Amino acid sequence: MIHFIGAGPGAPDLITLRGAKLLGETDVIIYAGSLVNPALLDRRKDGCQVYDSASMTLEEVLGVMETAEAEGKDTVRLHTGDPSLYGAIREQMDALDAKGIPYDVTPGVSSFSGAAAALRAEYTLPDVSQSVIITRMAGRTPVPEGEGLRKLASHGCTMVLFLSTGLLDQVERELMTGGYAPETPAAIVYKATWPEEKVFRCTVSTLAETARREHITKTALITVGGFLGTDYDRSKLYDPAFTHGCRKGSEP
Ligand code: SAH
Repeated sequence: MIHFIGAGPGAPDLITLRGAKLLGETDVIIYAGSLVNPALLDRRKDGCQVYDSASMTLEEVLGVMETAEAEGKDTVRLHTGDPSLYGAIREQMDALDAKGIPYDVTPGVSSFSGAAAALRAEYTLPDVSQSVIITRMAGRTPVPEGEGLRKLASHGCTMVLFLSTGLLDQVERELMTGGYAPETPAAIVYKATWPEEKVFRCTVSTLAETARREHITKTALITVGGFLGTDYDRSKLYDPAFTHGCRKGSEP
């Protein structure tokens, strides 16, 4: 059996209870060494085989899984954050389906949640933004036409950019051409939830300059939007005057 597990964004106690249990019981671990905190490996049992997928191909990863399966062993495939985001798990699952190898998936805390915690922010503020766009700047990995950053920027909503820290000059240009004002608040969150976590608040027009000044080139998320500002409406849910299914408001 193969268990795909979200390791969480970095802090080793941000893996789920289910993920931690499976990690402690498994015979083989294949972990994404470039981003998963190696401290998580301390949970492994004696004799557990460990592979770092950072230098492996998909075929090699599948080979390890297949061998383990033939030997009646369990394998944990440990992905950073939540595996459904930029995790390349679909191709692994499809290959396992084709080979008839069973698997399950345990979700994880994504780094975009870790970044909000680091920022002490709420992505969805009433009257500011009720939508979050999770995307990346097209680089060596292309982005489908129609999802270009400039186009997405036209919504003006909360945006979280993965895998784009090395491309901030283009990010800035696309965001501003698309519709964000240069002074729109932005933040770079480096290694959210790790001991080295750093938060740099800036504006859309100073993203690249900020990253250069602070020497941030990777393992960071770029967050953009009015949610980082000071103005918002309070929620209806906790407004004394507002009636809803669980509470009667003070005014009709
Ligand atoms: N599945 C992961 C994302 C993998 S893509 C998740 O859900 O978080 C890898 C990118 O995620 C990195 O380039 C970086 O942009 C971002 N990232 C991962 N961990 C991070 C962290 N702790 N802090 C900031 N960004 C992080």
